[in-house]
Amino acid sequence: MWHNIKHIERPATAKEAVDLYRAGEAIFFGGGTYLVGQRPEGVHTLIDINRLIPRWMERHESVCLLGAGATIQQLIDFVPPSAPLKIAQAARNSSYSKNIRNQRTLGGEIAWGRTDSDLYVLLTAVNPLIVVLAPNTKEVRLCDWDNRGIVAMIMLTKEDATPVGYNRFALIESAPPFVVTMVLRQDGGYRVVVGGKCQQLFTINTPDLSDHQIAYFAKLAVQHFTADHIGSLEYKEHVIATGIRRGRDSI
Ligand SMILES: Cc1cc2nc3c(=O)[nH]c(=O)nc-3n(C[C@H](O)[C@H](O)[C@H](O)COP(=O)(O)OP(=O)(O)OC[C@H]3O[C@@H](n4cnc5c(N)ncnc54)[C@H](O)[C@@H]3O)c2cc1C
Repeated sequence: MWHNIKHIERPATAKEAVDLYRAGEAIFFGGGTYLVGQRPEGVHTLIDINRLIPRWMERHESVCLLGAGATIQQLIDFVPPSAPLKIAQAARNSSYSKNIRNQRTLGGEIAWGRTDSDLYVLLTAVNPLIVVLAPNTKEVRLCDWDNRGIVAMIMLTKEDATPVGYNRFALIESAPPFVVTMVLRQDGGYRVVVGGKCQQLFTINTPDLSDHQIAYFAKLAVQHFTADHIGSLEYKEHVIATGIRRGRDSI
């Protein structure tokens, strides 16, 4: 641990854990990968939630239960690589080092909500039910979670396991994507999510996804990006449109 950590709490109940939480000061400890790497200033207490949340994964007839304490590598080993929902590929790409994947938890990845995490962007597109201990147990859609409480479980239903048009653009394969696009069919239409090196994800549900509309969505999505050494906004808009188009055509 680092020098400003004064306490490590191991609460026995979710209520105790949630009561101890203070944003930026006393925070949950899942895999701890980034906390240990980044050593955020101001954090003086780590709340170890690992024994409060499941670390197992189970496949049932109509639902897959993914414990939020499970690691990203566990997810990769659990899901058949041929599954139409390309969750194993996204999990691998979200963290290229296997050592880190063996430590990072699904709960940590969701809670942090990195816009350039392939896995988080894919989960945002699918928008599954998650179980949150806040401290009472509740089920909410991932996109409706208010970031309070402990993520305990992700529930992927049969309907969630739909083909995803997943395209990533990165300088090298092992780097986080500067643009990542997900397209899937939902409720008779399409759901599109655009992430990458940007301020926030762009998400849209649309009944129709013509080339004309894709160009319009790319124009909206690029507003969350900035021009940088990778390229101008015009270039990124073009990349976003290409990703969405390829995604649409592949599902
Ligand atoms: C400040 C910060 C910056 C980051 N930047 C990057 C980056 O640039 N590149 C990169 O690859 N990764 C980055 N990450 C890591 C990342 O995307 C995820 O946080 C990662 O998957 C960590 O998983 P973990 O299990 O090791 O979580 P931890 O490091 O243990 O915790 C990460 C955060 O998630 C919260 N948390 C953990 N588990 C749960 C849970 N079950 N329910 C609710 N909250 C929970 C913690 O309070 C903490 O804020 C960053 C993380 C942090 C905290």
